[in-house]
Amino acid sequence: MVNFISLISGSSGNASVISDGRTHILTDCGMSGARLKDALKKIGIAPEALSALLITHEHIDHVRGAGVIARRYSLPVYATEKTFSALNCGRIDDALIRVIKPDRDFEIGTVGVLPFSIPHDAADPVGYNYFAEGEKYSLATDIGHINDYLLSHIRSSRAVLLESNHNVGMLEAGSYPYHLKRRILSDTGHLSNEYAAKCALELVKSGTERITLGHLSRENNTPELALLETHTALTDAGINVGTDMRLAVAKRFEATRI
Ligand SMILES: [Zn+2]
Ligand SMILES: [Zn+2]
Repeated sequence: MVNFISLISGSSGNASVISDGRTHILTDCGMSGARLKDALKKIGIAPEALSALLITHEHIDHVRGAGVIARRYSLPVYATEKTFSALNCGRIDDALIRVIKPDRDFEIGTVGVLPFSIPHDAADPVGYNYFAEGEKYSLATDIGHINDYLLSHIRSSRAVLLESNHNVGMLEAGSYPYHLKRRILSDTGHLSNEYAAKCALELVKSGTERITLGHLSRENNTPELALLETHTALTDAGINVGTDMRLAVAKRFEATRI
């Protein structure tokens, strides 16, 4: 059985695991080494058993503990060349570095991986498709907008962790400085609830059975608002949420099955 689990999710930190029971892949580590160990213990995976660490991009909410855990557990680290150059998490031994390119697939143990480019204001950010036990699973957060390229990659995934970062009204009326609001709302910022809902509908039409909304802003969103927006879009399109597919929100500091 494949387990695809968000360990933590939100602007404060992100990490997820996909495991087919033999290969255990950690994607991003936006938490300390000690907290990661605790989080993994709760889902029954020893940190020593991890097969690899994949990195989406160099922002601190994704790499806070990356260097520490790579060194501590001698974990191979996969990222694009520009992400490695921009990464600021201490020295990672050359022997552990695995440079990847968008749209070039590779294998880690029994799991296939395909990185794809995402529109986000980082050096060379990627999302990931994972192929395990004959099914596709996708991680798509930190995306400024949805384009055909992105949609073509995540379409027909069995389960998707999809960004639903902010409610535009809350962001606009909120206390963030103007430049930060502009950044978040830009094409290379973060995905709003409204666009997440549109994307979720496309995914369900393509056969996706489980969507977990993630990377929620603490200031500019609530789990209820994110859920409501996508739930409404799906229901309006005649989809029976809970029967035709499962919709959930990834918890900020707790494990959530995707
Ligand atoms: Zn980011
Ligand atoms: Zn992020």
